[in-house]
Amino acid sequence: MLQFYYCMKTVSLILLCLFRTHFLSAQQPPNIVLIVSDDHAYQAISAYGNTLANTPHIDRIAKEGVLFKKAYVTNSICGPSRAVLLTGKYSHKNGFKDNENSSFNGAQSSFIKILTTAGYQTAWIGKWHLGSHPQGFSFWQILPGQGQYFNPDFLMMDGSSKRIEGYATNIIEDISEQWLDSRDKSKPFCLVIGHKATHRVWIPDTLDMGRFDSVNFALPNNFYDDYHGREAARVQDMTIAKTMIMGYDLKMFDGEVKEGSVVRMNAAQRKKFDDYYNTVKADLKKRNLSGNALTEWKFQRYLKDYFSTAASLDRNIGRTLDYLDKHDLTKNTIVIYLSDQGFYLGEHGWFDKRFMYEESFRTPMVMRYPGMIKPGSQSNDFVMNLDIAPTLLDAAGIQPPQEIQGRSFLPLLAGKQKAGRDAMYYHYYENGEHSVSPHFGIRTQRYKLIRFYRRTEGWELYDLEKDPAEMNNVYNNGSYKKTTAALKKQLLELTRLYEDEEAEKMLLQQK
Ligand code: CA
Repeated sequence: MLQFYYCMKTVSLILLCLFRTHFLSAQQPPNIVLIVSDDHAYQAISAYGNTLANTPHIDRIAKEGVLFKKAYVTNSICGPSRAVLLTGKYSHKNGFKDNENSSFNGAQSSFIKILTTAGYQTAWIGKWHLGSHPQGFSFWQILPGQGQYFNPDFLMMDGSSKRIEGYATNIIEDISEQWLDSRDKSKPFCLVIGHKATHRVWIPDTLDMGRFDSVNFALPNNFYDDYHGREAARVQDMTIAKTMIMGYDLKMFDGEVKEGSVVRMNAAQRKKFDDYYNTVKADLKKRNLSGNALTEWKFQRYLKDYFSTAASLDRNIGRTLDYLDKHDLTKNTIVIYLSDQGFYLGEHGWFDKRFMYEESFRTPMVMRYPGMIKPGSQSNDFVMNLDIAPTLLDAAGIQPPQEIQGRSFLPLLAGKQKAGRDAMYYHYYENGEHSVSPHFGIRTQRYKLIRFYRRTEGWELYDLEKDPAEMNNVYNNGSYKKTTAALKKQLLELTRLYEDEEAEKMLLQQK
């Protein structure tokens, strides 16, 4: 009898402990893992329907959470996109308009600073690319500028620089896990994993070299675009045919190799690299290609390297998910994967980004938030990288400050809000590399109106329902006169809403 009594008492105590643990964890604000890649196109992700791609771990986040089918960026380029993520403000408000002339003013508010103040352990690890050093983080360790794929240097919090042997994507994941191991576990955490992959010049980990060699990629229908009626598209310098460099982008080096990531390789890495690319080079030489045949060979090589680099990235995203599983963190951790913008995989004959056309304006984004997001969800609402900061603050139970221009998309995911924004505003500023003209514009569910300025001057209008590939500029088509006027009015309202005075002035001067 006494034994039974003690046994029951033990059971009660265990139950009480379990209840308390559950109760406490329910009170704990969610942990956050934000994985930001670079230049990763949604067209290269199997969750977005590409049957040639193999990205099981990005797909896993979507299967266990939500796939955003209409996620966009406000300014399609590396540094500016990260500044928007951090601040929840457009480039003209956070000051980081382009990669060539801007440096991020770290004194301004960011969602990270707010989380740190609220008691979160916060970290940014990997690609940062904002010129100045991170501010307001519990921990950071970043690549200088673009960083290198092999044996990269890292900038440390104490101002020193440290070279780490290995492949960048693996190392960034290693450092992230080390930080998770050593963090103050009594506090919630927000970790940003900033990957260099899949940025130019697309060098995969040595074990992924050749992974897509047996795949023949289909040429996009508009690969041989003549840019008729689209002046900015005509004057750009980002084609696979002319701009893509054999001895740099495609590693068909002639003579001494100067590319940083290759020069830094150790003997074992360099042997694997040389063995693989020298075979490709010998094969190319035998083929003696020119004209369109050579351009199409470049396209195939570009995608083989790009998809292989993405495979190395996806494997490390899997490691992050495994870490959360292994440490019993999955349940109370939000995971978001997105790229800093989309990318052209041969559409319009291009690589690179910048334009407000869909492939670079859109970005892949998947999110898992157990208990909040129904597994296998798909979102067709317009969401933007501008919304990440307020969404994460919202999840942490913090009211976003007034100056944040994005809005939380949690109410949309929770079904508490029926519809998202009806239109999105975009503004691209850089007027240098790749010769893409600055432009701003509006996208609604059906239309896109773009105003180019500085390098080229003019308007473009696309009826996305009839012309999803954006080949037919109908701005001067009389049957769209009313639509154009309404869109211009709506665009003017957006420049006022977001207080983009430079764009507003240009619109008013038009009249
Ligand atoms: Ca980028």
